[in-house]
Amino acid sequence: MHHNNKMQKRQELLQKRAEAGLVSERFPNVSGMEIKMTYFQRTMYSDSDKLLMLRTVKVMPDSAAYFNMQCMTKECENTYNLLRTINALVKNKKKKASGKIYCSGKENGLKANHACVDYEITVKYNSKRKKAKSA
Ligand SMILES: [Zn+2]
Repeated sequence: MHHNNKMQKRQELLQKRAEAGLVSERFPNVSGMEIKMTYFQRTMYSDSDKLLMLRTVKVMPDSAAYFNMQCMTKECENTYNLLRTINALVKNKKKKASGKIYCSGKENGLKANHACVDYEITVKYNSKRKKAKSA
């Protein structure tokens, strides 16, 4: 089974983003988020993780509540899912979380842990109290 069709992939991504809904719907008390990610990659020549790229994603209330970040390894189709972390942050009304996720993608002969990201998520909350959400 091959999913090499770029158009199809793009359609799927748009579909997933649409299904995820908006940040304002999922996290009504959040006014914005910043997700800083440092991507590392492990090559076949080395066991150490090489810095690949830095990326900062700004999330607004009208952004899609879709937090699957694509692994930057060319052959890899796996994503890093930050939704669980963000769920926990917002639930506990915390402002910051950081950590490291290893890629578990194994297709195309890739080794487990061939790449990882260090992430730092900062959440801003609405200062005004809106209608209490029924839990
Ligand atoms: Zn990967």
